[in-house]
Amino acid sequence: DMEVAIKVVVVGNGAVGKSSMIQRYCKGIFTKDYKKTIGVDFLERQIIVNGEEVRLMLWDTAGQEEFDAITKAYYRGAQACVLVFSTTDRESYQAIDNWREKVEAEVGNIPTVLVQNKIDLLEETVIKNEEAEALAKRLKLRFYRASVKEDLNVNEGVFNTTCSNVTN
Ligand code: GDP
Ligand code: MG
Repeated sequence: DMEVAIKVVVVGNGAVGKSSMIQRYCKGIFTKDYKKTIGVDFLERQIIVNGEEVRLMLWDTAGQEEFDAITKAYYRGAQACVLVFSTTDRESYQAIDNWREKVEAEVGNIPTVLVQNKIDLLEETVIKNEEAEALAKRLKLRFYRASVKEDLNVNEGVFNTTCSNVTN
């Protein structure tokens, strides 16, 4: 069997929308009160890239973002990374460097995209566009603004880029 499986880790502070993003992408749904997927390590979705079947395994942290020992095991074997911060949470933006370093320390320089989620919450924006763009530029990352809630840029943006970066 020639099937390719790619482990993708979705990383960022708590409440930025990581679990929602994975759920949106793999199950096509958004629920306001998404319960932590305790006991479930990842969700998967099969896609076709350049005529080849690719199985994307999207790994979720069950709200254990603050425990280093757990996240190390979580990163192991990852081939791509989605770094997420929230439009309404400045700390989550400031934490991106730290998340990037943690992932890099464990698995090296794997294909990574930067995502600003919750762009539907315009009124509550605490990060200027220039700031977000500057961060992406400094870290040399492809950057997407997304709304998991409104289903903006999740399918065609974030995950398509992630997997074409790996399979090319
Ligand atoms: P995680 O801790 O990073 O996994 O974040 P969750 O996926 O649990 O999401 C935290 C909260 O943000 C939940 O109440 C979600 O419904 C909400 N949320 C996630 N994505 C969006 C979005 O794009 N827009 C809005 N308005 N809320 C979102
Ligand atoms: Mg979560």
